[in-house]
Amino acid sequence: MKSFYLNFDKKHIWHPYTSMINPFPCYLVDYAYDVYIKLYKGNKLIDGMSSWWGAIHGYNNKFLNDVLKDQIDKISHVMFGGITHIPAIKFCEKLLEFLPYELQCIFLSDTGSVSIEVALKMSLQYWQALGEKRYNFVSIRRSYHGDTFAAMSVSDPNNSMHKIYGNFLSSQLFIDEFKCGFYGKWKEKYFDKIDIFLSKYHSIISAIILEPIVQAIGGMNFYHPNYLYKLKLLCNKYQILLICDEIATGFGRTGRFFAFEYSNIVPDILCIGKAITGGTMTLAATITSRRVADVIGNGKVGCFMHGPTFMGNPLACSVAYASLKLLCINDWKLQVFNISIWMKIGLFSLINHPDILDVRVLGAIGVVEFKYKINIPYAQKLFVQNGVWVRPFEKIIYLVPPYIISEECIIKLCHSIHFILSKFDIFIYD
Ligand SMILES: *Cc1c(COP(=O)(O)O)cnc(C)c1O
Repeated sequence: MKSFYLNFDKKHIWHPYTSMINPFPCYLVDYAYDVYIKLYKGNKLIDGMSSWWGAIHGYNNKFLNDVLKDQIDKISHVMFGGITHIPAIKFCEKLLEFLPYELQCIFLSDTGSVSIEVALKMSLQYWQALGEKRYNFVSIRRSYHGDTFAAMSVSDPNNSMHKIYGNFLSSQLFIDEFKCGFYGKWKEKYFDKIDIFLSKYHSIISAIILEPIVQAIGGMNFYHPNYLYKLKLLCNKYQILLICDEIATGFGRTGRFFAFEYSNIVPDILCIGKAITGGTMTLAATITSRRVADVIGNGKVGCFMHGPTFMGNPLACSVAYASLKLLCINDWKLQVFNISIWMKIGLFSLINHPDILDVRVLGAIGVVEFKYKINIPYAQKLFVQNGVWVRPFEKIIYLVPPYIISEECIIKLCHSIHFILSKFDIFIYD
């Protein structure tokens, strides 16, 4: 049976960023619980990925499951146009407790990429309502904001997406990636060029979009909180909106509930997703201030023009509410703090390895950056043999484990990285 399933999958089902002709191998999963992913007729793996930053409470959590089971017997979905429901209201009310006071107006959608589209549209409608022709966005090189077209257009211009879709992508303005690491020594001069750039173009700039503190898929870079703080000052100076994409970083992952809190700023528009439902259902949100919402509402168009079919899905909202409650019950801050310490102990011993460029840890994010590209299918196989689920990309192995993980499991995850480094053919030299 196992080979039938895998052959069918290989023949008919596309996986993320792979070809149908020669796809990377896939592992068949049977079930998952706690921090473990159990392979079909195979071993159980300690999850180091939280299924792409989502499963912060691990898998098959009883508290979350019970809420979902309860909700499915009431209503799994109902249209949000002209109808509202208690799961959406309760979730948004709870979410407000975690948000800065200024951010009050919540737009629910179904995926992170869509929440980015919504943020960009809010910003465009805001300026249109004010009668200004500001149609351009500023983004940071090496950013990643999603796979839909507008989201791709504000993602790194040198990665393959821009090359593949060429002129179809709207052209945006880019500023260089951050020059100063999170723990680095800050220099004021980093901002001279950006100030000059914005002074020149501000009248056509709608918003600056960025990932606060951690550039995730663009290289897992942790940058200095002053950068975001200073950029917000420039946004105020030139009257540019600031969009923070906290889809990866939100819900405590960096050690703060939202990473922008490190910089003591409040964005004009905030996007959240990934961990929002504890990795159980697909949901995202775009949140803005009353001021921005009022300007849009008072504009010629008046309405904000977006409305996904599955907007405010009750199942997703009910479990998102439960996930927020669970974060408090479990003391997420302490969980993330402990993971941070354990990962530092487990990973910093690698720092002098000749193939390693850098090792860094922030909150519950551990990163090992190599000098060479990793042979991903081979590394994956070795990780699985070692009883862990870790998925590297390019020159990077990163760990974003569920918050409920134990010290013992973190040690095993770190050891598995030591192990694959002992294999001489783990890198692809080009
Ligand atoms: C994952 C991610 C997105 C896209 O979210 P999807 O739910 O995959 O559409 C956008 N921005 C950041 C920073 C992300 O990590």
